[in-house]
This record gives sequence, structure tokens and C-alpha cells, in this order.
Amino acid sequence: MNVAEIFETMDYGPAPESPTPALAWIKERQPFGLFINGQWVKPASGQYLDSINPSTGKPLAQVASASSADVDAAVAAARSAFETWGKTPGHVRARYMYAIARHIQKHSRLLAVLESLDNGKPIRETRDIDIPLVARHFYYHAGWAQLMASELPGYEPVGVVGQIIPWNFPLLMLAWKIAPALAMGNTVVLKPARYTPLTALKFAEIMQEVDLPPGVVNILTGEASQVGEALVRHPDVNKIAFTGSTDVGRNLRRATAGSGKKLSLELGGKSPFIVFDDADLDSVVEGVVDAIWFNQGQVCCAGSRLLVQEDVAERLIDKLRARMEKLRIGDPLDKAVDIGAIVSSAQLKEIQRLVAQGVDEGAVMWQPSWACPTEGYFFPPTLFTNVSPATTIAQVEIFGPVLVSMTFRTPAEAVALANNTRYGLAASVWSENINLALDVAPKLKAGTVWVNCTNLFDASSGFGGYRESGFGREGGKEGLYEYVRPVWETAPRATARVAPTIHEWDVQPSMVGAGLAQETSLHEDEDTRDHAKTFESSNGYGLVLPAIDRTPKMFINGKQVRPDSGYSRDVYDPTGHVIGQVGEGNRKDIRNAVEAAHAASGWASVTTHSRAQILYYIAENLSVREGEFARRIVQQTGRSQEDAIAEVQAAISRLFSYAAWADKFEGVVHRPPLRGVVLAMKEAIGVIGMACPEEYPLLGFVSLVAPAIAMGNTVVVIPSQQSPLSATDCYQVLETSDLPGGVVNIVTGDRDTLSQVLADHDDVEAMWYFGSAEGCKRVELASAGNMKRTWVNYSHPRNWLDPVQGEGEEFLHEATQVKNIWVPYGE
Ligand code: NDP
Repeated sequence: MNVAEIFETMDYGPAPESPTPALAWIKERQPFGLFINGQWVKPASGQYLDSINPSTGKPLAQVASASSADVDAAVAAARSAFETWGKTPGHVRARYMYAIARHIQKHSRLLAVLESLDNGKPIRETRDIDIPLVARHFYYHAGWAQLMASELPGYEPVGVVGQIIPWNFPLLMLAWKIAPALAMGNTVVLKPARYTPLTALKFAEIMQEVDLPPGVVNILTGEASQVGEALVRHPDVNKIAFTGSTDVGRNLRRATAGSGKKLSLELGGKSPFIVFDDADLDSVVEGVVDAIWFNQGQVCCAGSRLLVQEDVAERLIDKLRARMEKLRIGDPLDKAVDIGAIVSSAQLKEIQRLVAQGVDEGAVMWQPSWACPTEGYFFPPTLFTNVSPATTIAQVEIFGPVLVSMTFRTPAEAVALANNTRYGLAASVWSENINLALDVAPKLKAGTVWVNCTNLFDASSGFGGYRESGFGREGGKEGLYEYVRPVWETAPRATARVAPTIHEWDVQPSMVGAGLAQETSLHEDEDTRDHAKTFESSNGYGLVLPAIDRTPKMFINGKQVRPDSGYSRDVYDPTGHVIGQVGEGNRKDIRNAVEAAHAASGWASVTTHSRAQILYYIAENLSVREGEFARRIVQQTGRSQEDAIAEVQAAISRLFSYAAWADKFEGVVHRPPLRGVVLAMKEAIGVIGMACPEEYPLLGFVSLVAPAIAMGNTVVVIPSQQSPLSATDCYQVLETSDLPGGVVNIVTGDRDTLSQVLADHDDVEAMWYFGSAEGCKRVELASAGNMKRTWVNYSHPRNWLDPVQGEGEEFLHEATQVKNIWVPYGE
């Protein structure tokens, strides 16, 4: 095309970026080795793999194929480096991270070109989005390294972290993983995706340039079945951080269950892009281009479901088709190209398969009239209309440039349609009415909501999913908690006081003396109605009457209901005497309790002031019966009365703490580099199942329930199995404290049987379990079904009386998830 023709047609001329420096860089180094302990080493297997350029389908570079022996070496290097790096002052770590950010900027063009060659994404995106965000991530986290000691007191690094990243944003995902890990003092073994290893290898070179201590970052290229699985199963890895498909995420949840490894998962999505009829439709069209054709639609948070208010749907679809005709597809290194290549032939075939299925299922497919390049892996932007919400293309993550559109009439219908997915990664809302947009945003089940914008990211604003889009956040302060743990967890536990289990209870005369001295007075106490004691009636008949039997039922939906099984279980004191019975809960009771907890979901919208008032009221009602609750603890556990009173008082204090936190554990407003704000809202998780610890039957119960309901969750609680009466005694306290029915539901019975039902239940969003190591493993395994969040103790004792271990931020974090709502402003 000559200048005269361009002038005539107003078409784009070619604007190619030269690949020469990047190709020379590859040529000088290949075949690439593995980066272990600060050195380039050959893979133990001697095997190498080709990395393919997706825009040509031809090999680009040869990289090492690591095996489990290399994983062992890399983990050993990371462990040894952790001994020093984990204790390195934050300021020193911050200096290294600042240097990394600077070096990324110095090599930004090489990195951008390498990324486009290896992944197929347009240079405009790698140059203007991926690489600047990578640098920003290291700058931002250099700040957290500097501030860790003052801003995260009481936390320490986790240790050696295994990180597994996908191919869609290779260097950006590396930055999202490595930056917070190093900032918090961890060391890393990272596996890049098989298709896109090159920028990670350049990053390894940068580690050498900045003289990062050997072993702090190790990079192993290779295949999932070799490197990925070995890393996940390695006993000396303390945490796994993963981004990728939900199916693999589910496998990793199962593979790490019971191992004690921390886990964060950023998984798939099918994000809604909601357009109300008052939206600026021309802006919407550009938004859709960004939402689904950015990175060829290979974006976990791609706005792949277009939901349009009915009266503007036709107009918007017409505008969209006109815009699609103008999109430019082709050589990723051409700066005027909008859409590059799909990452691999396998991914291309998968997109083709799902599109064919959409047509078969009756949806109407539309593609622009122009043809794609024939060399390489290209797929045109595609729009489906006449899509039914239940069809495959409306539900499954296609991970390609394919948009499905549906219509709605009312905001309520838009929310219902938007939430009609197993995922919950992101959503985008378009309306000129900010009241409407900010009313809809909190109702969407998604970790990120963009108002009148889409696909914006910043290191300051945490990113991560609800539901089957995974758990954990990357970015923001909330993302740091994925890479730390409370110091007390690893400190010697000299002060931990754990009540023995009934089976372990070896009844010594001295213990009987200590524990049962109060037991005697307890038997004499008229308040204690549960004991089968008799008393002289004062009714004038002169009869000796038995005490009125009081067998607690289940507490479901604010009412006391009989157990479905019709069975009861005996409750014993430490000497083996029966002191009462509770209902034997079963699957049906749990299902009813979960249903009640869901029906009470309005609790999340009750004002924080009201939630605080109710918690204070529960504390008030508990304190009126302090003596009775203390005696109950003595009776069940054989502990001293003094000790029991301390437990009740601690429970009252804990209720006060969470009443205090209810209106203070608030979100923040981020100021990312844009004209606008990001509202980081701490939201309730939903229905939380919880199995209470055996020890401290009242305090354990209160310590779990109070933070959960303070943050707006509803709960299904399995009280201490051997000492459930402290929890069942709370029924009346709860009934008289204005707590709406269904917010707290209590099912007594066998802890592990009931926990299994809760962990399996698809309508339970999180499961907290404080019990045996085997029970923890089972809960984590079962949680993979709907990818619910879990919080388990791996049978490690916790001193519930100690406010550092028994209450505070750790509990509040477990009870909330952060939603970031992006609100740009300006005309
Ligand atoms: P995967 O989830 O398979 O891969 C992501 C990363 O995990 C890669 O590094 C991969 O290694 C590794 N991996 C795969 N299996 C295991 C395992 N069993 N143990 C440890 N590591 C493992 O994604 P795919 O690349 O196969 O893409 C398939 C689909 O996943 C896409 O079509 C898309 O729907 C979704 N996806 C979602 C992403 C997101 O950001 N949420 C990103 C990428 C894909 P290797 O590359 O060697 O296979």
C-alpha cells in the first residue's frame, strides 16, 4: 500500500515492531536452562521443549523440561535461602524490589516483544498494559516490604512458596505472585505455563542483575505433569499459589488437602457485562471491545456475557457489529492490530468446538466479513445472540474472543442473570445513573465490579474470586495475608491450655477433688435443672418429684426443633456420668439449617450498628446467667470453677470485641493511577459452616460465631461434640437477644459426620473446622466440590483464652471477602 492509497482509503498502514533484538536475545541463550539457586543449570532429564510462536505456528525457542529431581533442588535452594531472606529487614527487601521494578522498566521493550512473540498478544497490550503493570506491582510491593513490620505486626512469612501461573498474562501473573511473596519475606519456586516461558526466563536474568540472594527466586520451566504436580506435592513447600482453570484448581485443592499448605486459587470466570438503557452506548461499545477482545478474550475476568436491557438491545447490537467490522486482526507485533493470535492450536480447537456447540444449541452466531490470517492460530471476534441462559456457551468459560448476549427488563432480573453462574470473578455495570450502578454492584457475586469501565487492574486493588472463581486475593493489603501467618502459630506453645478430650481424661483423685468439688455444689444448686436430681415439692402434696426433663433440640431458623433422626446422644462428665442428652443431628438437619441460613441472608444488609447492638445484647443476656454457664462448664469438663468463670467472662468480652468490630472492620478507598476511586468493600461470605473446638465449649463457640455474624454471615454451627451443652444453653440467650431466626443455627451430634455434610454442601460458602488432622483433611477434600473457602487447624491447639490467638483480625479476615468496585469519574 502506498501513501496515496492510504490517503484515499484512510486505512491503517503497517506499523511493525522489530522482533530482531528479542530473537537475538533468544538465540544467544537457547536452549534455556533452569534457574535454581541463582544459577542456570541443565535439567536433570536432559530434555528440552519447544516454545511456539502462535502467530506463525513455528518454534521460537527451546527451554528446559524440569522433572521432580529439579523440583527437589529448587525447593532445597529456596528453603536454604529462606533462612536468611525470611529474617532480612523489610527495608533491605524493599531495596531489592525497587531494583527489580527499575530493571523491568529498563528492559520493558524487550519484555514486551518477547511476550508478544511467545503468547501472540498484540504489542500494544504488552507494551502499554502488561509490562507497566508488572513494574507497578514491584514498586507497590516494595512499599509493603518496607512497611511490613509496622503494618502487619504479629505476622511472619509462610516459608517456601510454590507458584504456578498460566499463559494468558505470563509476566504479569509472575509479578502478581512473586512481588507479594518476596515483600513478605518468602522464597519462591515458580513454574511458568508450558506455552509461555520466555519472559519468566528474562525475569530470572533480572534477578541476577539485581544480585538477589541465590535461591530466593527459582524458575522451573516444564510440563504440568512433571514440575507442577511435584511442586504441589512437595513436603517442604509451605504454600501453593495458582492461577488457571477451575478444574486444575480443584485438583490442587484435593492434592494439598490435609497437608497444612496454604493455598490461594485464582480460577476461571464467566463475567457479566451489564448494560442499562440509560448507558452511553458508544462508550459501551468500546467497553465491550476491551472486555472480550482484549488479549483475544483469553482473560479470566473477560466480560464474556453481555446482558443488555431489552429496549436498547437491538441498537447496541447494531453498533457492536459495525465496530466488529473495523477490528483489525493479525501480526501481534503490528502496533495497529487489535486482536492477535490464540495461544496454541489446542486452545484454538477448544474455542472452535464450543462455538460449534453454541450454533448447534440454537444460538445465532455473527462474525465480521473479513478473513483471519491463514498462518498461525487466529479466531475472529464472534457474537452470539438468541442465547438461552442455560446453554453451554452461556455457562462455560470459552476463553476466546466469543461474546454471548442476552437481554433483561429490570435491575432485579439483571442481577439474577448476572449471578446465574458458578463463577464470581468480575462484573461490569454500565449506566449513567450512578445510584443504580452503586445499588447493583454490591448485589453481584464477584470479586471485582467495574462501573462504566472494564478490565482495569492495579497493584493497590486486590483481585480474586467469589464462588468457583477461587479464593484469596492478589494485590492490595488483603493480598499480603496470603503470604503470611500469625507468629504464634510457630512459636512454642508453653502457655496453650487445652482441655483433654473425654477419652484422654485420666481421672486422678486430685482432679476429682479439684473438678468435682464444684460438682457437688452444682448438684445442690436449684438452677441446674438438667441433672436428674429430685427435690421436695413445695406444692403441698408432700411428694418427691423428679426434676423436669430438659433435652435440648436443634436450633434452626430461630426455633428449637427435634432432630430428624429421632435419636439423642448422651453427654458425659469427665468421670463418665451422663449429665444430659442432646439431639443426634443428621444430614437432613444440616440441610434444613443451611436452608434457614440462606433464608436469613438479609442479615448481611442489616446495618452494622444494628448488628453491633445485637451482639452487645447477646453479651448482656449471657452475663445475666454467668454463674449458670460457669457451672455448666465445670460440669462438662471438670475444670475449676475459677477457670470456668474466666471462660464465661472471656466469652462476654469476645462478644463485646466483635460488637465493637461490627462497625469498624471497614473497607478502604484505593487511589489507583486513574481519575476515579476503587471502593474495597469487605463483604460477608454467606453461609459459613463451623465445627467448634472441643476445648472451651462456650468460648470456642462464641469465638467462631461472633466474628462471623458481626460481619453479616449466617452460620450453621456444630458445637463441641463432648461438651455441647454450653452451646445449647445459648438457645435462650439467642432467642431473647433480637437475633433474627436463621442467622445462627446449631446442630448437635457427631462432629466429623456433620462436618462432612457441611463441607460437601454446595450452598455452604465456607467451612471452618477445629478438630482432628484427619477431619481437617476430609473437610479440605470435600470443599473442592464448590471450591468453598476453608479454615482448619490441622489439630494444632489454639489458646482460646488468649486474645492474640482467640480473637481479632485473623477471624475477621476469615469472615469476609473483599470486593473492589471501580468508579471512574469525570465527564
Ligand atoms: P491450566 O489450568 O491447565 O494451566 C494453568 C497452569 O497450571 C499452567 O502452568 C499449567 O502447566 C499448570 N498445571 C496444569 N495442570 C496442573 C497440575 N495437575 N498440577 C500442577 N500444575 C498444573 O490451564 P490451561 O492452560 O490448560 O487452559 C485450559 C483452560 O483453563 C482455558 O481454556 C481457560 O478456560 C482456563 N484458564 C484460565 C486462566 C485464568 O486466568 N483463570 C488462565 C489459563 C487458563 P502447563 O502449562 O505446563 O500445562
